[in-house]
Amino acid sequence: MAHIQLKHVCKRYENGFEAVKDFNLEIQDNEFIIFVGPSGCGKSTTLRMLAGLENISEGELYIDGERMNEVEACDRDIAMVFQNYALYPHMTVRKNIGYSLHIRHEKKEVIEAKVNEAAEILGLTEVLDRKPSELSGGQKQRVAMGRAIVRNPRVFLMDEPLSNLDAKLRGQMRVEIASLYHKLNSTFIYVTHDQTEAMTLGTRIVVMKDGVVQQVDTPERLFRYP
Ligand code: ADP
Ligand code: ADP
Repeated sequence: MAHIQLKHVCKRYENGFEAVKDFNLEIQDNEFIIFVGPSGCGKSTTLRMLAGLENISEGELYIDGERMNEVEACDRDIAMVFQNYALYPHMTVRKNIGYSLHIRHEKKEVIEAKVNEAAEILGLTEVLDRKPSELSGGQKQRVAMGRAIVRNPRVFLMDEPLSNLDAKLRGQMRVEIASLYHKLNSTFIYVTHDQTEAMTLGTRIVVMKDGVVQQVDTPERLFRYP
């Protein structure tokens, strides 16, 4: 888990477009933060700045008191799960899940144990030797989560992780994400358009519009007392 501070964070893309303007937020250890707002309002950009996949134009990002603006993505101890899963198509499920440990030169036995544990948690044990093309949408989503879990990251970023799944599977995966959150002890930041996901998963919801934070509140206050 991690304590995160965004102070006056702005993102200006190369073409001059300001996608995020004066973003201020303090996230406590072990929160589950939800970003909502219309398409194009800057949710993914903010997530990518947190992950280190996009540089911060102005302002400061602190994680556990350390300034992160110039820290490389791989040194942030943050995992990100993408909407389109971004699995390696030529690798088996086992190798996909273990990859981040493999490139960090973890011992083979350690990788094996962590991959098996993640597979157990996510119900992937039976498909560890398959390629992504041989998986269902829900299984691909689980592999994407498995890749993040094995690193036991202090922060878990998820960008509309369930939006490519059908309604039934989405409901099921939502419950699984909730149980992961309770199990993992990570801080979660999660983008969604789905009000049920926002309400049931979030400890707080950040409402964005046109690159600006409009409101930050608990689901109860945001949805029950409009
Ligand atoms: P959201 O995730 O809320 O849909 P994004 O963060 O993806 O929004 O995008 C915010 C805005 O920034 C959008 O208007 C988008 O078109 C713009 N944008 C995203 N990436 C780039 C880029 N590389 N260059 C210029 N503008 C971009
Ligand atoms: P070699 O080409 O010498 O076989 P590799 O880099 O392919 O070396 O693999 C070395 C060891 O690491 C092997 O035991 C392999 O099973 C394991 N390994 C390779 N890639 C991954 C991965 N993505 N995740 C987990 N383990 C891996």
